[in-house]
Amino acid sequence: MKKIFPSLSPYLFIAVIVQFLSINSFAQDSYIVSITDVKSRKIEIKAQLFPNNDTIQMSPFGANHLKNGWASFVTNIGAKNKQNKEISIQSIGGGAYIFSPYKKGEEINLDYTINLIHDKGKWPFGYKEAAYVRENMMVFTGNALFITRLDMKSATVKFILPKSYMITNAWEEIGINKFKVHNPTELVWTVMTIGQYNFTEVITGDTKIKLVYSNSLSGKKKMISSIITSAVKEYENIYMGKPVNSATQSDKFVCIVNVDSGYVGGGAVFTNSISIMLNKSPSLEHKANTQSWHHILIHEIGHLWNGQSLKTEQQNEWFVEGFTDYMAYNVEYKLRLFDTTEWLAMLKLKQEEYNKAYKGISIKKAGNDKAENYDLIYSGGLLFAQLIDRQIQINTKNKKNINDFLQLLYSEFALSNKLYVLDDIIAAFKNTCMCEPKNIFEYLVTSKKIESP
Ligand SMILES: [Zn+2]
Repeated sequence: MKKIFPSLSPYLFIAVIVQFLSINSFAQDSYIVSITDVKSRKIEIKAQLFPNNDTIQMSPFGANHLKNGWASFVTNIGAKNKQNKEISIQSIGGGAYIFSPYKKGEEINLDYTINLIHDKGKWPFGYKEAAYVRENMMVFTGNALFITRLDMKSATVKFILPKSYMITNAWEEIGINKFKVHNPTELVWTVMTIGQYNFTEVITGDTKIKLVYSNSLSGKKKMISSIITSAVKEYENIYMGKPVNSATQSDKFVCIVNVDSGYVGGGAVFTNSISIMLNKSPSLEHKANTQSWHHILIHEIGHLWNGQSLKTEQQNEWFVEGFTDYMAYNVEYKLRLFDTTEWLAMLKLKQEEYNKAYKGISIKKAGNDKAENYDLIYSGGLLFAQLIDRQIQINTKNKKNINDFLQLLYSEFALSNKLYVLDDIIAAFKNTCMCEPKNIFEYLVTSKKIESP
């Protein structure tokens, strides 16, 4: 039996996939996903898989608070072999299944139902990162649907839907409602939508984003799409380039926006796709606030560069989240979504949040538990980004700033599809600042407390 590793980090997950990519070709897995009515919350899935051992599994990430992981929502599962004979399939916890008898390389035909009631329960970062139904939209991550195998090399997914339904995802389209994915991450680490909703394509510079928003947001099309357009333009200027895909990923980006007034509001980014849940309909606020609709949107769009294009092989949440947040506020300020008074009040609040959360550990170490150390990572990371920005400006007599530092990382790592580590960040800083990084980067490796300059 192949063991699954619940503590396996996404970085290792990528490494595992890269390893398997170099192995010779496997038969292609395929899925047929049928939905007759999004409000029924039922998804029927037929899968033909060619596993190389007796274990298949759902994603090991994102549902670790549930004993059965993502498999908690799977019902009526059955398996047959190539000869159409029933074989035994058993859930072993953590979203994994073993089946028997197993014959190496032989196909297994799965039949199962997803009960899409994820939004009825509690999620560490909200149901927008799992699956939900609102209005006539069904929104789900691949995590919520697919039973797969870590060594899957490519798979096709065909959706059977009522004629009046649309489907929007970030996958490579190879036919009508038929798509191809190139590894397990692409299959599960993505968010998509099916049903009846608004759709528009936002094209800015070199970046194309498929914007999907619920019918209740129909009147806000201009407001939302113009913020996306302006923000993308700013980010393209900051990084001097568009978001970068790995060679096998499609060149599509999807942004799904919905509203739930009973929800705290927030966003999440997956491979080429963003899930946003606002707690109220967008309106002009002139606030520098974590909860404001434009901050949520602009922060998540920022991850298309920091997170999606610039990828790390270590845990560097302080950089991924803290710097994305700092740059998001910078973009909002530049777009005059709030004024200098708001900017200063925001920095003061971030310092207070960080001080309150401070417990004698570095912001890098805090990233080992994102849910527990949210303010240390986000607010501490933001303060650190500001320190770096300030240091570069002082040392270069305002000839350079944080943008130059990010550009350097983007061109060295994102454009050549290389993963960065902490030393690369330090080197890029040293190069941009033309200064000794030791004193500043002490904040990352020691428990030294960050003070906003
Ligand atoms: Zn983020």
